Amino acid sequence: MTDLAVIDVLAALRTRGQEAYLGEPVTVTEHALQAATAAQAEGRPAPLVVAALLHDVGWLLHAGPRPHEERGAEFLALQGFGPQVTEPVRLHVQAKRYLCTIDPDYRSHLSSASRRTLGRQGGLLDEEAREGFATHPFSSDALALRRYDDAAKVPGAPTPELEHFARLVDLVRGA
Ligand code: FE
Repeated sequence: MTDLAVIDVLAALRTRGQEAYLGEPVTVTEHALQAATAAQAEGRPAPLVVAALLHDVGWLLHAGPRPHEERGAEFLALQGFGPQVTEPVRLHVQAKRYLCTIDPDYRSHLSSASRRTLGRQGGLLDEEAREGFATHPFSSDALALRRYDDAAKVPGAPTPELEHFARLVDLVRGA
């Protein structure tokens, strides 16, 4: 599906992740590190920390007709990650749509770039879609990931280096 399927997932962050993250004041890699650091600080299980780190890897792959969360989840499955990683990644945009639907306050606190993309991502959920998300076995992990994602846009916020998470990534992938 992409040339990146043959290289290490962290290498993608090391190289291509240095680009600005879609209208936000951080790079993709800073964003990833901040999200993973927040998940780890809350004592989340390793797969969710890794999902937070890798949730936007789809942005680093070749653009295509499919949304970045689906490209990312598929890529991570090819890399050997299981559903505890791939599902929260695949659902992190649906989680945003869900939260915007049920919580107007959430919506008003989104970054302006994130509010702008909501429409393109399908907007608010109808009742059926809302129910489908709420009953999905990985919805609570996806919601947690979404909160880390939303908060991970702080210029200059201190985080460990990528290498800090490398062992965790290998551990989770081998599980
Ligand atoms: Fe993100």
